[in-house]
Amino acid sequence: MSSSMIVPVIDVQGNNFKELWAAMVLAIKTSSFIAIDTELSGLGSRKALLAESIEDRYKAICHAARTRSILSLGFACYKELDNKADRTYLVQIYNLTLLCSEEYVIEPQSVKFLVQHGFDFNKQYAEGISYYKGNERGGDAYGVNMRSLFVELLRANKPLVVHNGLIDMVFLYQCFYAHLPDRLGTFTADLSQMFPSGIYDTKYATEYELRFTASYLEYAYKKCKLQNSKGIEAGGNGSRVFLEFCKYTDNMESYVDYRACLDNQNLDGALNICVQFSAYGWCPNGSQCTMSHDTDLIIQNDEKIKDDQRKKRKRKNKKKDSKAASESCSSPQEKRSHFEGAELDQAVPMSEPALPEHQETARAEPTDATHAFEPGETASKNGNEESQPEAPAEAPGRPKEKKVEGGTHRAGFDAFMTGYIFAYARNLTKNTEESSTAHLVPTCLNKLFLSGKSIPLQVAKSTFSKSSKAHVSKMDYVWGKNTAVKAEGNA
Ligand SMILES: [Zn+2]
Repeated sequence: MSSSMIVPVIDVQGNNFKELWAAMVLAIKTSSFIAIDTELSGLGSRKALLAESIEDRYKAICHAARTRSILSLGFACYKELDNKADRTYLVQIYNLTLLCSEEYVIEPQSVKFLVQHGFDFNKQYAEGISYYKGNERGGDAYGVNMRSLFVELLRANKPLVVHNGLIDMVFLYQCFYAHLPDRLGTFTADLSQMFPSGIYDTKYATEYELRFTASYLEYAYKKCKLQNSKGIEAGGNGSRVFLEFCKYTDNMESYVDYRACLDNQNLDGALNICVQFSAYGWCPNGSQCTMSHDTDLIIQNDEKIKDDQRKKRKRKNKKKDSKAASESCSSPQEKRSHFEGAELDQAVPMSEPALPEHQETARAEPTDATHAFEPGETASKNGNEESQPEAPAEAPGRPKEKKVEGGTHRAGFDAFMTGYIFAYARNLTKNTEESSTAHLVPTCLNKLFLSGKSIPLQVAKSTFSKSSKAHVSKMDYVWGKNTAVKAEGNA
């Protein structure tokens, strides 16, 4: 049984945005949930982003969102298919290259890094889908543009899934929706009305529900994939996640970038794993690190440690009930315990992020150069997971004739991985309610992960918080006149 697969990511830019519009809107409307990821031109002061006070953090992210921009947006629509024994999703993934039409800050380090990793600024400036930030300006509200696409996303009223997504949500709001409110309470109140089906953060789910040894995106994704394929191998009646992709033809096919996603390989030599990278998906030595940053190897090593612990415990408890030996839960917190303070760095690292060795070589090869892209400082909110090691040139079954153009499809693939983690977590959730309105993963509903905090940010409208004025008029437009949303003041 293999879990290897080829993942198609549709590359959307100015010259095919109109053509793909209907397909994107349909994918959004028919999905069971939508995962989203962004790449940003910068984040500003890292220190401020990790301020002790959450209100201060919000202010810092707002400042970043007002002065920086979204360079690309990825979204993955997961549609649960009926009449299948296990949970099967049809997945459609889009990667949009964007160009903010207003002045914005792009951090020098980011430019350097992006260029080094094959980001094509020529393409972005020539073909990026343009958008303006802040409040509606009238005129093109009904046009085919990013703000309208965001409105379609809201109207579809689907559960929204992000990974470490507070920064994403703030940027999305400012870039495609309205001016950000000054207060965090207003922002979360607005969000809760914008996404009534709920927002889910897979970093929160990974740390507090799945309780994996680490929670950075690629780790969580590969771990879910491994667990899932183990479940398939073992048979039985546990429910598993299966994915299906569309077969793209004609014009569509020319926009698709296929990414090979290899099976978790059996690797030898877990001895030289970089401990820091293993815990955070990031290490200060970056590509200069002499230790391994290979996620497959790291996961394998963690499994081995767990296994050894389990065996030890079993010997100890030989006469006791086997219950005691059932689970050895090494949580992310545990893994990090010997890195006091370092955890904050992983959320927003300052130095160049790492690439595993085999990507160093892949980079030299033009066809795979784009896969080695890693947004690094530009958009490090996901803890700088390295880019996809599962896309080396020798990927079996990889369509060889496929071009890989200068751009990057990182946001799209990250959105895909985020959605997969959610699909996996959803399967583990015993839902008593089987109605269509039941929340998909109730324990994670409307909780955004906060770096360095043990409690999440609740996306809710408190009795004391007001909705913002801009939001209320936006909701009128999104839902028509009969909106239930009422302004309780002008925040
Ligand atoms: Zn390292």
